[in-house]
Amino acid sequence: MATLNVDLTAVLCGLGSVPKKAMIDMHTFLSGSGAWRQLFLGLALILSTSSVLAEECAATIEADDTLQFTPNKIEISRACKTFTVTLKHRGRLPKLAMGHNWVLAKLSDLDGVSRTGMLAGADQQYVDPADRRVIAHTHVVGGGDTASVTFDASTLDALERYGFVCTFAGHSPVMRGVVVVK
Ligand code: ZN
Repeated sequence: MATLNVDLTAVLCGLGSVPKKAMIDMHTFLSGSGAWRQLFLGLALILSTSSVLAEECAATIEADDTLQFTPNKIEISRACKTFTVTLKHRGRLPKLAMGHNWVLAKLSDLDGVSRTGMLAGADQQYVDPADRRVIAHTHVVGGGDTASVTFDASTLDALERYGFVCTFAGHSPVMRGVVVVK
């Protein structure tokens, strides 16, 4: 409970508009016990949780000198109008040898966009600009580089299954992940 008190005080301080006197009273109040206190803590927790969720319309995906995304699953809230994915390449190999990109499409389209991406080649970031199945993508990054993309998340269908793939030469069969819209 001590940890919760600290977090809650931080949340209240974050509001900025709470007068100092009120903060002190609140602190005294929180140090007490009883049903009202429990109720208040519960409500405060719900409020702070929902505000955190509202800000989580973004995800960071890491890759290195192996063929995997970490994590390999992204959850997108239906409340998100836009969503931002940041791809961080924590490896050491250069872009030409171990480049990675992040390409979003329906799960059923991942093989197709990987094929057209391969044909498009390095000059096009391994993404065919004419392939409308590609919902969003980053450019290719090498070791130590970061790329991000922000896309319209409101068009994603919670009943559809989405995934992401790295379309860099030879990576797409194994370098994949799933996207869940909920
Ligand atoms: Zn890759």
